[in-house]
Amino acid sequence: MAGKLRLEGKVAVITGGASGIGEATARLFAAHGAAVVIADIQDSLGCSVAASISPPGRCTFVRCDVRDELQIAAAVDHAVKTHGRLDVMFSNAGIVGSVAGFLDLDMANLDAVLAVNVRGTAAAIKHAGRAMAATGTPGSIICTASVAALQAGFAPAAYTAAKHAIVGLVKSAAKELGKNGVRVNCVSPYGVATPLACEGMRLPPEKVEELSCACSSLKGPVLKAEDVAAAALFLASGESAFVSGHNLVVDGAVTMVNGTAA
Ligand code: NAD
Repeated sequence: MAGKLRLEGKVAVITGGASGIGEATARLFAAHGAAVVIADIQDSLGCSVAASISPPGRCTFVRCDVRDELQIAAAVDHAVKTHGRLDVMFSNAGIVGSVAGFLDLDMANLDAVLAVNVRGTAAAIKHAGRAMAATGTPGSIICTASVAALQAGFAPAAYTAAKHAIVGLVKSAAKELGKNGVRVNCVSPYGVATPLACEGMRLPPEKVEELSCACSSLKGPVLKAEDVAAAALFLASGESAFVSGHNLVVDGAVTMVNGTAA
């Protein structure tokens, strides 16, 4: 596939695209020819990431808080009005929330984690699915779950529950939207040293990478945001034309070795 533009002429919206995995994916999708709309709450970071992607205009930023369904609808609308269509939705925005244990579970924190991760994902699938149906586009919707969607112990309970719910949303949407030719899949990363992971683990980036490497079954490479972006690119492109309802785990076999199949 070297040298081949895998998303030429495609239009993608990426929630949480101002940082980490979303930013790496915005850069990769744009490098593969897609027009990219970054939808995030971090205005200045989102604008500067969009401006740093060439050629000018290939990537734009819209402020979008995924907890608000109307803002997701507006981000999708922006993509369709600007570029005439929507081919790819990467619903990737997420938060970890409090790291307190179950016996100290804070219900407001639970609501907050579910609002971003679950409600935000549900609304992204809904509005992307509607836009794709309206234009008859056989699009691809990709949602970021996590290894925490497969096993307990990677993250706090609220985040673990939220990521399990994302897999459920993806399965339901794959079944329903398939009749319109729309594919819906997840990517489930293991530990990548992003602001979210550093906050969740209370560690600096180099320590997150150290721990991720130490626990990984795959010795050698360090898991980077770009590796998750590459998995998202596969799911976004025509190379995965018959892949739907799948959870693509990017974890160097950590969950498989621990006994839980994806
Ligand atoms: P990150 O902190 O670099 O990026 C998260 C992005 O989401 C940020 O740009 C943030 O502004 C945005 N965001 C947060 N709340 C939002 C909201 N309400 N509306 C819109 N945008 C919002 O972290 P990341 O690791 O790149 O996280 C991306 C996704 O990957 C998340 O869903 C996360 O749960 C998932 N994930 C990360 C890891 C990891 O180890 N980094 C592992 C598994 C899954």
